[in-house]
Amino acid sequence: MPQDLSPETLAAQGLGLTNPPYGDLIPPLHLSSTFERAGDGSYPGGRVYARDQSPAYDRVEALLATLEGGSAALLYPSGMAAATAVLQSLQPGSRILAPRFIYWALRRWLQEFTDRWGIDLAWYDNADLDSIAAGLNAAPTDLLWIETPANPTWEITDIRAAAELARPGRTLVVVDSTVATPVLTRPLDLGADLVLHSASKYLNGHSDLIAGALVTRADSAAWQRIRAARPAAGAILGPFEAWLLLRGLRTLHLRVRHASAGALRISEVLALDPRVLEVRYPGLPSHPGHAVAARQMSGGFGGMLSIRVAGGEARAWEVAARLKVFKRATSLGGVESLVEHRASIEGPDTPCPPDLLRLSIGIEAVEDLLGDLDQALG
Ligand SMILES: *Cc1c(COP(=O)(O)O)cnc(C)c1O
Repeated sequence: MPQDLSPETLAAQGLGLTNPPYGDLIPPLHLSSTFERAGDGSYPGGRVYARDQSPAYDRVEALLATLEGGSAALLYPSGMAAATAVLQSLQPGSRILAPRFIYWALRRWLQEFTDRWGIDLAWYDNADLDSIAAGLNAAPTDLLWIETPANPTWEITDIRAAAELARPGRTLVVVDSTVATPVLTRPLDLGADLVLHSASKYLNGHSDLIAGALVTRADSAAWQRIRAARPAAGAILGPFEAWLLLRGLRTLHLRVRHASAGALRISEVLALDPRVLEVRYPGLPSHPGHAVAARQMSGGFGGMLSIRVAGGEARAWEVAARLKVFKRATSLGGVESLVEHRASIEGPDTPCPPDLLRLSIGIEAVEDLLGDLDQALG
């Protein structure tokens, strides 16, 4: 397949559609855990054992690397496993700078992991470059963690500016780009070293698997440590999940663009609704990160938005309970729209306001979603 084709063509065709020996358009599902060795001791197929090199990953990892403009990708059995692979590549005594607004399970895990691993953890304000600079200047920093747009208020971090602050130096810049996807933002082009995805979300898009991925810009020493640790630690995605993920990726561009357009429309309508105190969506000029988002994201602002319901927490619960088309469930990035009362999921130490509902916009007709919100707010 010619590699000068556009990313959406490469994604739609899963990097190429014909598979020898039959020319089947859909790649086979590679289930074998082990591979035959020749009498001379060599492995004619180049594979030994599926924990080390599963052919089930080849196509998906190559496609993810291509979509992100990276040199290589690794699949993991969850987004959290991918994040943990990055954390475990650090030595005790290292230092991490992470944003105050960050996927909640990761905040909790960062605190627990760094505490036990003897790693220094400092926080910065997501959108504030001065706060990042101060954090980097306070002590030598090994890892700058960025999540943009960040859960659940969709703060925007200027990736290019943050990466410039981290350089020159030894700071690895990692961007959790789960919400933006490579359709809207390519962090490696903006100077990041690694991109992380919860592939359970938009990359797969159908809420039927848990997976994670890392993509690297260069074959750096950090990447070599991360790559070597995967077969050693055994954080392996199942072959069927890898196969499903490739299928999901084939519609990534369509899904993300449709969800982004729907989220913008819904944000614009709700921003004028007196029953809603505040709409948090980077596509609205009222969002404090709008200007950076407009520069950093192309083709849309993503399918995630949050609303603060006028009248407080009890009203927010009522509205969530009355929604019918939106499903009350955690997670995001599926073709079905979801609503979640975030503070009650995140627990007492959450920075999330108690009247906030997080909406993941799917690919349903936007009129149905608007109608559902209108009746639920009513
Ligand atoms: C869901 C999510 C994760 C964790 O991914 P899992 O696949 O659930 O382990 C990490 N970051 C973000 C932004 C997420 O939404």
